[in-house]
Amino acid sequence: MISTRVTLTAAFVAGLVAVTVTLFLAVLAARNDAVYHDIALYAAAQGDLAARVITDAEKAEGNVMATSDTAALIALLSPNVVNRLQALPGFIVVVDTMGRAVYRSSDVMRLQGSDMATLQTQLAGLPASGEALIFTLDSLQEKVLFVSHSLAGNASGLSRIASGAVATRASTIPREYLLDALLIVPLIIGTAGVGAFMILGRTQRQLSEITTEVAAITDGRSLHRRLALSDESTDFADLVTTLNAMISRLETSFAGLRRFTADASHELKTPLAVLRADVERAMMDSGHQTERMIALEEALQEVRRMTDLVESLLTLARADEGRFDLHREPVELGPLVQDVYETALILGEAQGVTVNLPFTADVIVMGDRTRLRQLFLNLVTNAIKYTPAGGKVELGVGRHPDNVTFAVRDTGIGISAADFPHIFERFWRADRVRSRMSERGGFGLGLAISQWIAQAHGGTLTASSRLGRGSLFTVTLPLASD
Ligand code: ADP
Repeated sequence: MISTRVTLTAAFVAGLVAVTVTLFLAVLAARNDAVYHDIALYAAAQGDLAARVITDAEKAEGNVMATSDTAALIALLSPNVVNRLQALPGFIVVVDTMGRAVYRSSDVMRLQGSDMATLQTQLAGLPASGEALIFTLDSLQEKVLFVSHSLAGNASGLSRIASGAVATRASTIPREYLLDALLIVPLIIGTAGVGAFMILGRTQRQLSEITTEVAAITDGRSLHRRLALSDESTDFADLVTTLNAMISRLETSFAGLRRFTADASHELKTPLAVLRADVERAMMDSGHQTERMIALEEALQEVRRMTDLVESLLTLARADEGRFDLHREPVELGPLVQDVYETALILGEAQGVTVNLPFTADVIVMGDRTRLRQLFLNLVTNAIKYTPAGGKVELGVGRHPDNVTFAVRDTGIGISAADFPHIFERFWRADRVRSRMSERGGFGLGLAISQWIAQAHGGTLTASSRLGRGSLFTVTLPLASD
């Protein structure tokens, strides 16, 4: 297979050749035009001279014709004028008003074969405007150029002079052009081709160097490594920077994935161990019926806990995939929050926490009722969970020009400034051991899910908190358009 390097070099050289040939032909054409112009000027000057000879002779002698009989087939200029005209070089033909050639210069007389006839026919069509006529004479194997000089009003019955010259210079490529075309241009194109081939080789080397390094890094175990920017690969600095940024993102998501799997397994390990112990206790022969029932009850509780965890994991996995299974419909927030409030009252009572709903508003949002309930309930249960007995939890719905807010404020334990940035991370809990061991023990997934629900509705979930003082969680949702 032909390599890209060879193909690109060939395309480059072909392009160069095409451009050079076109340029060469254009220069040649321009130069030919200039040469023809020179020759035309020369021929016209000869014609002018001949005209002056005739006019001078006419002034001196009256008539310039040797035979002036209009009926005669052959008409000739007087020998005196002929002698003077013969001093002028080139092709000169003097024609009278009847179209007869009354004088032909010696160059014309020397023409052989069909050339004389060709000349006659061509000259008959010679434009009077002074435009040049170019044609080939066979015996001469040359191109000749003729121009016409009018003798209108001439007293001896002459009509015009056709003067011409050989246009050899115009039809041959000059030697210096040939030298350029055959030697210098190929040399330049060859050098450029070799240069392009070498530069492409360097580029290819740099790219394969980068490719090898990327392959080595992305095998999964070396994501901590970064591509080095060697002197060779400076042309690809942007590419290297972009790839390094991509590897960084890969590293972060791999680390996240590993942490997520480890955390999830860890979270399942504890309830599984408890479940196993409960089932073993229930199966013991010596045990009483009541003890067995207690063990099975505990086992059931662990199964519920695991189901919760698996459901949360599934929700987050779907959210990561972008599969938002939201069933959007217009939802009245007032009744929904009232319902959440009533559940909160029961939970709060059990914890010795006062729950209030001092203000609510009649607002409608477009959303998934079940998910929104889950979001509000998550925040409310957290507030109750992390507020010691005697504390207060306050809920509120607010209507604003562009959006609607649902806020949960508590006077609970609060979150330290060091912990605060982590609260939305998956499996994160302040003081993990205590959380798991105590009654409060969640999985640290609630806020991650809550944040996803808010964002999936085009809203946000924000928090503020002070350790020992309490926290405020606010959901902002867009208002349903009319
Ligand atoms: P969990 O199931 O552990 O409550 P979340 O994701 O809901 O998980 O919350 C993560 C952590 O954030 C909690 O473990 C707790 O440390 C902290 N947190 C959440 N809400 C509050 C709150 N209202 N007051 C104090 N800490 C909170």
